[in-house]
Amino acid sequence: MGKKLKVVICSSEVVPFAKTGGLADVAGSLPQALEKQGLEVIVIMPKYKNIDYPENLAKIGKNISVYFIENDGFFKRDGLYGDSLGDYEDNLDRFIYYSQEAIRLLKKINFKPQIIHCNDWQTALIPVYLKSIYTRDKFFKNCKTVFTIHNLGYQGLFPKEQFKKIGLGNDFFTLETLEFYGKVNVLKGGLVFSDVLTTVSENYAKEIQTPEYGCGLDGVLLYRKKVLHGIINGINYEEWNPATDKVIAKNYDPRNLEDKYINKEDLQKISGLEKRSNLPLIGLITRLADQKGLDILTRAIDEICQLPVQFILLGTGEDKYHVFFKQIAKKYPKNVSINLKFDAALAYKIYAGCDMFLMPSRYEPCGLGQLISLKYATVPLVRNTGGLADTVVDFMPYQDEGNGFVFSEYSSGTLLEMVKRAVTVYYHRSVWKKLVKRTVEDDFSWEQSARKYVELYEETIKLPS
Ligand code: ADP
Repeated sequence: MGKKLKVVICSSEVVPFAKTGGLADVAGSLPQALEKQGLEVIVIMPKYKNIDYPENLAKIGKNISVYFIENDGFFKRDGLYGDSLGDYEDNLDRFIYYSQEAIRLLKKINFKPQIIHCNDWQTALIPVYLKSIYTRDKFFKNCKTVFTIHNLGYQGLFPKEQFKKIGLGNDFFTLETLEFYGKVNVLKGGLVFSDVLTTVSENYAKEIQTPEYGCGLDGVLLYRKKVLHGIINGINYEEWNPATDKVIAKNYDPRNLEDKYINKEDLQKISGLEKRSNLPLIGLITRLADQKGLDILTRAIDEICQLPVQFILLGTGEDKYHVFFKQIAKKYPKNVSINLKFDAALAYKIYAGCDMFLMPSRYEPCGLGQLISLKYATVPLVRNTGGLADTVVDFMPYQDEGNGFVFSEYSSGTLLEMVKRAVTVYYHRSVWKKLVKRTVEDDFSWEQSARKYVELYEETIKLPS
């Protein structure tokens, strides 16, 4: 066997240490899947409040070191990126610090990686520094960078006056580099200076090269198209598995799906919904942000709540949605449960207890909710976009095809029409049972995706310097 490929994963959030969204799930489970493929992996993330390990070092998987970059002034705060007033004003300073220290740490611990795999804008300055300050540094001579876009909507935009903080010359503030409509765009730095780019589904990789989904960076991505790859995220079935889940009321697997409905009863009980086994229970777990399709949902919700269904929401985010859903809770006390918080335990119970899981996203790079629901035999109701389109196929009862329901046009009308279609099928019990069986057929574990990353790393290290 050859020498182990040495990889560093840089991420601003990693499960189980800190999480605001799917990035943390990926950054927590991909390293473990890579380790299983025989790679030597370490992870570097900021040391947020409540993270407390001797020598700023923890272990995950079999033997993966997770290093924490410490700076209490920057990271010992309640939020990861902001608070109720919005993003922290010094986010550029915070992630410059993280990026520079991550590079220094590698030298300090003498870990010479062949691949530094960065994720989203918070880590995007690492490839920029490697291709500027560190070009002649022998330590990084055989090191290549891979950059994954988890969400093109978050770019790390800052006023141009802040550019000097980055510590690079003005030739790094041009149309070809970090300048973006008169501002500093940190993500763009990652897109321009990394050796290889990936994003989290094949479909999103195509979409982001178009003006509709490119968030102003479609030109850059078209330019780098040859090195841009789509690799769908997996989910960690050790964490997300109804057969072993320690939180839910009753474990079940594809052979005894009937036991799923004990979880439905439990969910109805703990969320104050009426105990009604024959009503379809629709769940939604999400950041309350425009991206997630909440504007069309708010326009369709009254009609949805007036159908013979129950509805449960778990989410936090924009104030306007908190206000809106509080009203909905008051209006439909019998068949609606609104939970405006981040609650990992309740999330498991919702995935297990619901019949349907709704994701009407405007755009969705990969989406984990639909993959988790499929594992929990909960039928996903999704919009035909990004990774949702790659993983959910519209149910065709007569063709024996599909694992969920899909709508295309981004409007409240088409969303409602899809929900009605799903509810109609639900009441055809034998057809619904057939569909539920189909949900658990596909395998979205990390193994296959991790293999693709390994192949890509192996191609990447062969690229000329
Ligand atoms: P994104 O990363 O855009 O937020 P994903 O679908 O990729 O969306 O990942 C979201 C992850 O966060 C899922 O694991 C989901 O269950 C979880 N999640 C989102 N909101 C909450 C919440 N309020 N409470 C618990 N888990 C949540």
